[in-house]
Amino acid sequence: MRSRYASLAIYSLLLALVAASALLSASARGATFPPWWVAMLGIGASLFVWQFGLRAPRLGLISMERLLHVGLLLVFDPVVAASICAAASLTWPFMSRRYSQGSLQVAAIRAVHNASMTALMLLAAGEIYLLCGGRHPLNGLLATDVLPLVAMALTAQAVNIGLMMLFFRFDGRDVRRIVTPTYALSDLIFVPAGVLAAVLYNTGNLAVFALFGGLMLLFVLSFNSIGSPRDTDERGPLTRLFEAGRALQGARRVDVLVERIVSEVRTLFRFDELHLVLVDRERRVLDIRVHEHHGTRSPARETPIDAGLFGSLVSRAEPLLVGDWRDASPELLQRAALADKPTGSLLAAPLINDGIVLGLLSVQHAQPGIYARADLHLMRQLGQHVAGALADARAFEDLENYRRDLEARVHVRTTELEKANNEKERLITMLRERSLQLERESQEDALTGVANRRAFMQRLASELQVALAVGQPLSIAIADLDHFKVVNDELGHPVGDRALRQSAVLMRRNCRGSDLVARIGGEEFALILPGMTRADASAWCEALRASVAGHEWDDIHPGLSITISIGVAQWDGSAEIDELVHVADTQLYRAKRSGRNQVA
Ligand code: GH3
Ligand code: MG
Ligand code: MG
Repeated sequence: MRSRYASLAIYSLLLALVAASALLSASARGATFPPWWVAMLGIGASLFVWQFGLRAPRLGLISMERLLHVGLLLVFDPVVAASICAAASLTWPFMSRRYSQGSLQVAAIRAVHNASMTALMLLAAGEIYLLCGGRHPLNGLLATDVLPLVAMALTAQAVNIGLMMLFFRFDGRDVRRIVTPTYALSDLIFVPAGVLAAVLYNTGNLAVFALFGGLMLLFVLSFNSIGSPRDTDERGPLTRLFEAGRALQGARRVDVLVERIVSEVRTLFRFDELHLVLVDRERRVLDIRVHEHHGTRSPARETPIDAGLFGSLVSRAEPLLVGDWRDASPELLQRAALADKPTGSLLAAPLINDGIVLGLLSVQHAQPGIYARADLHLMRQLGQHVAGALADARAFEDLENYRRDLEARVHVRTTELEKANNEKERLITMLRERSLQLERESQEDALTGVANRRAFMQRLASELQVALAVGQPLSIAIADLDHFKVVNDELGHPVGDRALRQSAVLMRRNCRGSDLVARIGGEEFALILPGMTRADASAWCEALRASVAGHEWDDIHPGLSITISIGVAQWDGSAEIDELVHVADTQLYRAKRSGRNQVA
């Protein structure tokens, strides 16, 4: 038993149980049954009404059966009326292929359900009518009859609608969409006609009753020309197609759309197998997004783009209607990869948008002859709606993906720029530090930390200008360590280095802030003494010489003693730097010659 029908069948059987016990308990009170042919007439009239009854353009069948229901209830005992009408309901699904959708199973379920529903409805309506003081059998019309009659009609309607809603729910249909106020009330149109029929019958004037019956017949015939093809089968689905198209619009994600498609296909076609296939041209596969078999969904899977029947339909962009696989051509069977001919029918339509096949929609049924050409037409039109909606949803998805991608890229780029910026800052700081260090190094003597020859020359040039500008004297001095070669030779170069460093310290210690000490050669220092005359400078140098000579050098090497000779020169306000230095050098030479450890 199919899963969808299983719940319907169980529900219908339960309803039948309730209806049967209600009928039995009601008939236990005793009821007079009419002759068999009267019952047959009632059943016949019911079948006639279902076959040819009035159809409202947008409602489908406006049930003329209420005429019979009300009429029979007012003529016979409720049990009798309920039995006659239930018998008709039990027969009809087996007689109408359209109503039973060509399925014996559907026919059985509907027969059991409708018969039970009708029986319960008429029993309830009849009881209510009697409870409200309704006259029975009704053979005239008084003002007091109106209330019981209205109660009877409304009861029938309420029971009918309630049970139909349950049925639709078990059938998996959207009850709210089907059961509208118009649906709920349209049956009541024929209640007055039923009352009239009963009164005419009960008064015993059979000629007037027959006249009324004939009038009703004419009425029906003039609205429905019997035997003409009905276009209502088309009208229903077209309305539903229109609704399906609307429901498919505006889906922004393919996943969401897929579910809507499935639910719309369910309202439009009967099937026990459904396929929704999407074409992925880049990867050359058919993405079998939905495969539903007897209500059970298989996980999505993929097949090669040209594989099987679906592959061939996609590549040819053509729809297919198989009324019965047993009549299918060998070529079709081969394409469908079916070895032996199964029974059943199939309907498939490609989803084409702007001439491109985006996918395929297919429904199948195990029974043959389920689908007709009209269904194929309907499926193709649905396919157009679906393809359009699919293209829209994909465009939305692409746009959304593009937006996300862009955001991600901007984020990455921003991070990269931040990193690059930080790196730039780091390099700039490093370069600045390095250049400061280089500048320092270019001005500094590495061994002693005092200024080097270059710095001395630069500073001397600017001090000469200052001296000239402010009209102050300026002297320089060149100091050279005495017999230093001996120190190096006898005590080693490292000791010599330490002695050089210590000498520099002593010189700096004696200097003022404006003075400059520089190492301009191996063991030769130069001093700039702004504002000093030669006499000042000589005195100052004498003090320096004495402090070097008097220094305790033992911590560098025991017994070590260092002396310096100094040559002093005062700038005359015009000499070049080299000349000034030369004068100081000459003075130094003089001091050396005069025995060293002295200032000249
Ligand atoms: P004088 O009294 O005539 O100046 O004799 P002197 O030995 O000091 O002079 P000379 O020019 O003959 O020797 C200079 C010595 O200074 C040579 C070298 O051994 C030493 N010297 C020069 N530069 C450095 C240095 O950077 N480190 C060390 N340890 N010794 C140096
Ligand atoms: Mg020397
Ligand atoms: Mg020297």
